[in-house]
Formats: sequence, C-alpha cells, structure tokens
Amino acid sequence: MTDTLDPEDWDDFRKTAHVLLDACIDRLAEARAHPWQPLPEATRQSYALDGTARGEAATAQRLIDDVLPFGTGNTHPRFWGWVHGTGLASGLLSEMAAATVNANCGGRDHGMIHVERAVIDWSRRIMGFPETASGVLVTGTSQATVLALATARQRALGPAVRSTGVRGRLTAYAGAGVHNATRKAIELLGIGADNLRRIPEDDRGMDCDALRAAIAEDRAQGATPFVIVGTAGSVDFGRFDDLNALADIARDEALWLHIDGAFGAWARLADAPWRALTDGIERADSLACDFHKWMYVPYDCGLCLIRNGDEHFATFAARPAYLASHGEGLSGGDPWFCDFGTDLSRGARALKVWCAVESYGASGLGAAITGNCRAAARMGAAVTAQPAMALMAPVISNLCVFTADASLPPKAQTALNKAIAASLQLDGTAVFSTTEARGITCLRAAIANHRTTPEDIDAAIAAVAARADALTQAA
Ligand SMILES: *Cc1c(COP(=O)(O)O)cnc(C)c1O
Repeated sequence: MTDTLDPEDWDDFRKTAHVLLDACIDRLAEARAHPWQPLPEATRQSYALDGTARGEAATAQRLIDDVLPFGTGNTHPRFWGWVHGTGLASGLLSEMAAATVNANCGGRDHGMIHVERAVIDWSRRIMGFPETASGVLVTGTSQATVLALATARQRALGPAVRSTGVRGRLTAYAGAGVHNATRKAIELLGIGADNLRRIPEDDRGMDCDALRAAIAEDRAQGATPFVIVGTAGSVDFGRFDDLNALADIARDEALWLHIDGAFGAWARLADAPWRALTDGIERADSLACDFHKWMYVPYDCGLCLIRNGDEHFATFAARPAYLASHGEGLSGGDPWFCDFGTDLSRGARALKVWCAVESYGASGLGAAITGNCRAAARMGAAVTAQPAMALMAPVISNLCVFTADASLPPKAQTALNKAIAASLQLDGTAVFSTTEARGITCLRAAIANHRTTPEDIDAAIAAVAARADALTQAA
C-alpha cells in the first residue's frame, strides 16, 4: 500500500471498474431474471467491517457477489409494491459522472449548479409554474414537504418566526388519505399534528364543503388556518383532489395551497385522460414531488417547487462570513441552493434527472407513465373478470387495490390477501404490497415500472387466483 488513497495502478483500476460496470449492465439487461430475494444470513454478516484494507479489486468483487443481488427488487418488471420507481440505464451514466466530478451543489459557480437549475426550470414549465418560481432538489417528497410548509408557515407568521418560533395556533387541512409525510412535516415545524385537520374524502378527493366548514370553525375558535395540502395521487388509492377547487378555496380564504404530488404530479406527462388529473396544479403555491418514483430515476431524488421564489429564499437564506459569495470566481454563482433549504453540502442529484430527460425526452418518459396507467387499468379489468376477486377502489391512475376472494368474511380476506402477497414475493413471482380498504387488508399494486408489460399483468393476476385457490384449499 502506498500513502495515497488513489489507485496504485490506474490501469488495474480501469480493469476492475470495467468488470463491475459489465456486471451492473448485466443486472439491468437481465432485470427480469432477478426478482427480490431474501438476504442470506451469512451475506448479511459478511457486511460487517473490521477496518482492514482489501483494495479496490476485492471490493468490486464483493459488490458483484454480495451487494448487486440483494436489492429491493424494484428493478424487476413485476415489482409493484408501495410506490417504487424502477431506475433507468441512464442512471448508470449519471452516477458515474456525478461520482467523478464530486460536486458540492450547496452553491458556488460550477456546472452541476446549472444542471440543477435546468432540471428545476424544465419541471417548472411542465408543472405550469411562473418564471418567478424557485426550486431545489432534495432527498424526496418528505423533505420537500418540510421546505414547502416552512415557507407557508413563514407567510402566515412573517419573517419573525425564524427568531421567535411559532406563536399561536396554526392549522392545516388535508384529505383523510394524505401521506404521512405531511404529518411529519407539521410535527417538525412545531405546528403539532393535532392541528392537521383531516377532511373526509371520496374517490374524487377532499370534500370541499367540509373543508370550508373546518376552516370557518377553526377561525371562529381563534386559530390561524395557514395551508391546504392537496394530494395529486394518494398513496393508498391513487386519488387526486380537485386541484382547481382547492385553488379557489385557497384564494377565497387567503391560504397557501401546497400539493403533494409525490408520484401523481408526473401524470402531467401522460396522455388523455390521465393528464387532466393534474389540472390546477399550476395554481399551487408549492409542489412536492419525486423523480425517483414515477420518473424512474435512481434513488434518491425529489423536488420542492415554490411559486414565489422570494418567499422561498426569505425562509432559508442565511450565510455566515465564510460562505460569502463574490461576483467573480468560484464563490460567485448566486443564488446558492443552500439558501433554499436546510442542506449546506449537497450532491449532484439533478444529474440523474438531467440524463433521463436528455436520454428519453418528455415524450419517452410520458409514454412510460401512460403505459403504467394502462397497465393498472388492465389489472383492474383482469380482477373484475375473475369470479372471486373484487376491486376495492376504482382504478384512477396507476394504482389497483383489490381483494382475492370477496366471498370470504372480512377477516379471512385479510388473512388470504396477506398470505398471497408474502408467497408471491418469496417465490419471486410478483411484488404486491397491501393496504386497508373497508376494514380489509387488500392487495395493492402501484405501477411505477417502465418494464411492466401487459403479459406481466395478466400473469400476475392469474398467479393471484391460483395462489388463492391453493391457500383456501389448504386452510
Ligand atoms: C412516497 C410519497 C411521499 C413521500 O415521498 P418520499 O420521496 O418517500 O419522501 C409523500 N406523498 C406521497 C403521496 C407519496 O406517495
């Protein structure tokens, strides 16, 4: 070993890296042969570090043998659990370049900053936000929600909130099916989860009369309503709030309209009729969404978009002397991304989006999103065609929620659906996750997978039917 951390011999390193790259490409090219598999105990134990230097070649071999095979399985064409994106071949390109450049995107004047601006600007135009909007890439929608609601909080309480903290009682409003990320943000921002009002909803989203009534009631009790959180694509059923109706209410009540569009915002790139689900998104004050779900880019990557860039900046800007920027040189490049969120040091997250858009274009990505909606609709039809199965919610976008045998009592349905999900995961047939509807644990497919074919859908539903038969007979 020499006294540098660089490779002793770059030619050897080149060979090592090429071997690994080939293995990575093989994994993606043969994704269909690699469903999720449980991590063997011996492999898990082999991850323990003892601090010994083994060199890059040995490390690359460990990656090939012990890491590549044991992912979440979301690269597989029949993975529809939770809402997981598949990843893209372009991600291999972007991650190689990002690791090489090793940029810190907190600020300063360099290429990756402009790549991030380009990604934000492209997204801004897709979502119909004005040129005065600002954005920042973050880990995901959870973090984007924190940033957006912090900005909304500051509009309600004024810039003093940064020094004094929250005074008085702020209230927020969201549909009953709002994602947990909103609750966490409300907790973290010192507003208190009890002040997140859950408004009843149906398949067309939040009940707007109930929303208006809740706002009036809270005002009457001396609270300060400050934000309506609309959902574009609910995590359980893929529901969309009527975003135009929410924008009208937010305007009438002078409230901030935030939209959780984690995956659903990207239905904006889909064909009719799905695109229209996002109508009104362009009227929001802020939007949180992910690139790692329905834009398929590798984890992790989310976006916080804020209509009024000045308010966004005023909520987070704070630079001590050592971070001062100067017009010229590397310390130029104002405004800096660290002034639009809580992270100072930041990686080149935008590059994976930039490479995806450059590689496949809005049309390629949009076609995949449309394909996922079609696949969910096909799954819905296949469920309906099975005598024992039943849909538990209409298929609105890319989610299909159903029960394998509607003739059984609720408890037995729950047990059966859980057993089917586990058994199909364990033998690598398909990954459904579960959720609850009408008191029953149901099978749930969230299709954010550009590798899924119509045949995959048919085969998976046939497998559910067969597994249901086998399990019911065994019981
Ligand atoms: C996944 C999801 C979130 C959280 O996003 P992360 O990227 O996992 O942080 C929030 N809202 C909805 C609707 C989601 O589907």
